[in-house]
Amino acid sequence: MSTNRLKERLDQGPVVCAEGFLFEIERRGYMSSGEFVPMVSLDHPEVLENLHREFQHAGSDIVEAFTYNGHREKMRIIGKEELLEPLNRSALKIAKKVALDTPKGSKPNLMAGNISNSNIWKHNDLKSQNEVEKMFSEMVGWAVDESADMLIGETFYYAEEAFKALEVMKKTGLPTVLTISPMGENKMRDGKSVVDTCKELEQLGADVVGLNCFRGPATMFPFLKEIREAVKCHVGALPIPYRTSKDYPTFFNLPDRSNCECPSPHGRTFPTALDPHFCNRYEIGKFAKDAYTLGINYLGVCCGANPMLIREVAESIGLKVPASKYRENMENHFMYGKNKRIPKHISDYGDKA
Ligand SMILES: [Zn+2]
Repeated sequence: MSTNRLKERLDQGPVVCAEGFLFEIERRGYMSSGEFVPMVSLDHPEVLENLHREFQHAGSDIVEAFTYNGHREKMRIIGKEELLEPLNRSALKIAKKVALDTPKGSKPNLMAGNISNSNIWKHNDLKSQNEVEKMFSEMVGWAVDESADMLIGETFYYAEEAFKALEVMKKTGLPTVLTISPMGENKMRDGKSVVDTCKELEQLGADVVGLNCFRGPATMFPFLKEIREAVKCHVGALPIPYRTSKDYPTFFNLPDRSNCECPSPHGRTFPTALDPHFCNRYEIGKFAKDAYTLGINYLGVCCGANPMLIREVAESIGLKVPASKYRENMENHFMYGKNKRIPKHISDYGDKA
């Protein structure tokens, strides 16, 4: 078996992984919110390729193929099952192309195949579980065909579905990342605790275990601390950039406190009116730094991520990335800068502006 490139990198230091393609592609106008099927790899491959390049420019070490929700069940829901394999292969090819074309000065990127929550997994129901296993197997098979360097299983809220995903991924011999996403009850839907689930994933051989999606920094961090203490393997931390809280641990039920005159027509802030809850870049930077200090080396941001936040993650843990060239420079701001060419009558006006 070849060397484990992911683990080698993690043993040496931090690895950044940009996630959150679903929200970002939707914001760019190439995906329907709610339905959330990544048709972009077929309909607008150039848009997806460019987003990968932007995340790469911002410091992502991993190019994760955008096959999230690109599974057989979702394709059945939208009546396009025949496009399942072309969609997967196109997303994988685009990711591989970008991963092989790493900017000068960056470490070579790794291309990751991706599987995720199927939404049909049912506790104690072998029929649904076999169906899910088949869905995982076909997607992992395409990822191997298209030369994935590693595999990411993510956003599982059933512990046993995560175990099944890992089992399928492990058969390939590729490095594996398995991140789970407990919902608002703060445990897995089949009753297992978050920490026990991560411990079991480590036992089953995952290279990285941890959390991604659903939770913002405030409600993800306490779990990460416990996980970091409970396992020996590498830990992953990829929150959403939204201000979740003890009362609202995930982004699904965040209230609208913005006194907005135009609330979302479907009565929820999720997923189209979360904007007032958005974290600023410094909050995300602090999260990444605190997690890294704990000994968590696999870091990123999930739904809501954009290249600016990925750069913030990278820089907050001491990395310099291509986009660092363009980090903020308030020195030359027309009103708040200290550059001596800025006229005094303009800088004096700053607090009234
Ligand atoms: Zn996400």
